Amino acid sequence: MLEVNGISYSIGPLHIIGNITFGADKDEFISIIGPSGCGKSTLLRIIAGLIKPEKGEILYKGQKIEKPIKDLSFVFQDFALLPWLTNIENVKLGLSLLDIDEDTKEKKARELFKKMGLEGFENAYPNMLSGGMKQRVGIARAIISDPTILLMDEPFSSLDELTAEALRKDIIQMLKSPEIPVSLVIMVTHNVEEAVELSNKVVILSNRPSYVKEIKEISLKYPRNKHSKEFMDEVDYIYKVLTD
Ligand code: ADP
Ligand code: MG
Repeated sequence: MLEVNGISYSIGPLHIIGNITFGADKDEFISIIGPSGCGKSTLLRIIAGLIKPEKGEILYKGQKIEKPIKDLSFVFQDFALLPWLTNIENVKLGLSLLDIDEDTKEKKARELFKKMGLEGFENAYPNMLSGGMKQRVGIARAIISDPTILLMDEPFSSLDELTAEALRKDIIQMLKSPEIPVSLVIMVTHNVEEAVELSNKVVILSNRPSYVKEIKEISLKYPRNKHSKEFMDEVDYIYKVLTD
């Protein structure tokens, strides 16, 4: 469904992404993990069509991605909500590029607020919400346009661990629901446990200029028990590859 082909990227004299290639299919949850500064956020923006790579290409169902498209949505680490808009207005922004009338937007947004445990906060402003709730609004804005691919850049890393864990569980549950058409998630993280908890594949990157050190498949059944030996073995293995 998605091919990341020989991507390379520099900023000025700094060669950040060396050469990155991997593929992603329907029904996958892929984590990209690697040291700080190795270009994970940059890579995700390249996949989204927000930045042009120096070399290589991104193919979605065989077509080259060169600008943002409707089928791909983005969730940001710092939520990126507009503070002067209400929560529901922020979510409706996710539909602004589509030709949909205002009543339908409002209806879709209200349904999503219910589904995501945000009911009652429609007309409040983002600064009145906790971090976990803000990120729910950020995710709602991303999925309201019914994308097939969801790109998430460290979506849980600015939340405290208890809030992050609750939101991860909700996200897995929600993505399974037939009403949500997202069929592929690509998530950047620096948290090995989080990658093992959520993904079927972990793309492990090197220091910059980054390349794919290994693609580790995780075949444990969901929901995954973080205290099981199998889980901890996967975590240890990925740490080893990262630090080797
Ligand atoms: P990661 O998400 O893996 O931590 P990034 O993709 O954010 O890495 O950035 C890779 C490197 O590029 C970092 O060293 C960062 O400081 C640098 N960088 C990113 N964006 C810019 C920019 N717009 N201007 C200058 N340097 C940048
Ligand atoms: Mg980053």
